[in-house]
Amino acid sequence: MPTVAPEERLRAAGLRATGPRSVVLGVLTEASDHPRVDQVIERVRARGARISIQAAYDVCEALRRAGLARRIELPGSSTRYEARVGDNHHHLVCRACGVTVDVACAAGAAPCLEPSTAHGFAVDEAEVTYWGLCPACHHEHDHDGEESHG
Ligand SMILES: [Zn+2]
Ligand SMILES: [Zn+2]
Repeated sequence: MPTVAPEERLRAAGLRATGPRSVVLGVLTEASDHPRVDQVIERVRARGARISIQAAYDVCEALRRAGLARRIELPGSSTRYEARVGDNHHHLVCRACGVTVDVACAAGAAPCLEPSTAHGFAVDEAEVTYWGLCPACHHEHDHDGEESHG
């Protein structure tokens, strides 16, 4: 994957390359765990940059609107962001701990699923989320069932 500096990607997307935007985009580009905004803030601060909570939310949304980030909103979970956009990938989500893992689309290009009837809509995307238990939680779950007290 070619490494393009965050500043350059911001400008290419029509955004001013401010410090907070550059560092947040850098954090999201490096992350593979779909961080929540509080995790983004932690990582920005770990890089020695300053950002307020409100600014972090604003920057994430600005990146999303510019097409540089994707927002993942799942029931029962905080909003997460990722910089992997435009490849129509899907997510595996653990019901127990909320870990969110990328999985390539099974079909290829969007929309990967066709509704049984489109009701006249021009469908361009199907958002697929696979729910289950991650290996760690699945393992724990097994043990809960097996272990007896005493
Ligand atoms: Zn889990
Ligand atoms: Zn993802």
